[in-house]
Amino acid sequence: MTRVVLVADTVYLGDEAGTALTRAAVEITDGTITAVGPLTGPTPVGPDIVDLGDQVLMPGLVNAHTHTPMTLFRGVADGYSLLTLEGWRTVVLPLEQQLSTDLMTAAVEVSLAEMIASGTTYFADQYFAVEAYDSVVRSSGLRAELAYGIIGLSGRETREASLAAAEAFIENAPLDPLVHSWVGPHAFFVDNQLENIEAEMALAMNHGIGLHTHFGTSGAEDQVCRERFGMGALAMLDRLGVLDRPLILAHANTVDQEGLGLLSGRPVTLVAAPSVAMMSGAPPTPVRAALDAGVNIALGTDSLSSNSADLFEEMRTLGKVATHEARRPSVLSPRELLGLATWRGHRALDTRSDTSNGRIVAGAVGDLIALPAASLHRGPTGAQTLEAALVYGASGFNSSTVMVSGRFLKRDGELLSVDLGGAREKRELDFERLTRSQSVPV
Ligand SMILES: [Zn+2]
Repeated sequence: MTRVVLVADTVYLGDEAGTALTRAAVEITDGTITAVGPLTGPTPVGPDIVDLGDQVLMPGLVNAHTHTPMTLFRGVADGYSLLTLEGWRTVVLPLEQQLSTDLMTAAVEVSLAEMIASGTTYFADQYFAVEAYDSVVRSSGLRAELAYGIIGLSGRETREASLAAAEAFIENAPLDPLVHSWVGPHAFFVDNQLENIEAEMALAMNHGIGLHTHFGTSGAEDQVCRERFGMGALAMLDRLGVLDRPLILAHANTVDQEGLGLLSGRPVTLVAAPSVAMMSGAPPTPVRAALDAGVNIALGTDSLSSNSADLFEEMRTLGKVATHEARRPSVLSPRELLGLATWRGHRALDTRSDTSNGRIVAGAVGDLIALPAASLHRGPTGAQTLEAALVYGASGFNSSTVMVSGRFLKRDGELLSVDLGGAREKRELDFERLTRSQSVPV
């Protein structure tokens, strides 16, 4: 049995009431939170007691949409919209066509290290050739859902090879309590046509897993579906049964009220990536309307246009962009924004159990982070709520402590499971090798 007790001056539970306990302790046993409560006497002392002092202990953050190998390309897409097929074809595809699997691992390590460094404990990845780097993910100690990317653009043979590779990865994935497989169609109807979608559904159903895809970045799939099938893309996906499986729809910028009606109460999550939407000139994901319609919604960084792994920055950006779009203040409360980045992310990714994960409560997974109170730059406590200070004042990179399933991945500000400096150096050489024979658009 492994047991650790974290003590902090402030423990933010992440529950519906937004409870923050003063000077409280959280016990984690074998990876699960087993007790939470205020300290009534002096702080106990022992080898398994960690007193964090004047820090805010809170649930770890969930990045519900990213592509970890793509930090290799960070910067090359500046000035392009990656939310259009044209942008992706112009900037990313030429590099990906040259990308051998040995060039992926250092970039993945950089992504993992940056996520841990900024307080992310759980993420959903989508990329092809996941078998090249899933062992790197496993050794990082992060919790992850790895979707095997399937692109259906280049003819029947390539499409079938891509599906076969996804199937082999899913079938051969080792049983792991922290890392699981998903099916990752790149984009329905844009580059994955009906035949692919049916095969992807069958694969997901056979293995009891979900699908993670891009959706509604430009409205292209709606246009295709209206022309070919006489209905919108979500109505078509509903007809195919896709909306009854666990499903992550990343971006969802063009989903309208009718679409939200179809998604209400289904096991589907929309993932807002506000920095990418802003930098690509795309409309903001309809987060307020989705919450009001009873559709689960989570938060993701995506990978290229957004240059930071910090989900605090994404929460803050989403809060501001939602208000800016609506032309009225406080469209999304800090508590709602924290919910997107914590328990709603767990609800999206962990489809195997109906739990209280993403909150600090007995029975939930021991995925926790701590930030020094001073790093929040909080106003007078009588004036600014803790939640507002976390959303609008915090940087995840100031976290001192990051724990997944009871294991410290960052402690006293130091990364323990990934060598960020070494990975950065190797990524530098990898990029040089990748681009030696071609010019990179700038
Ligand atoms: Zn993406």
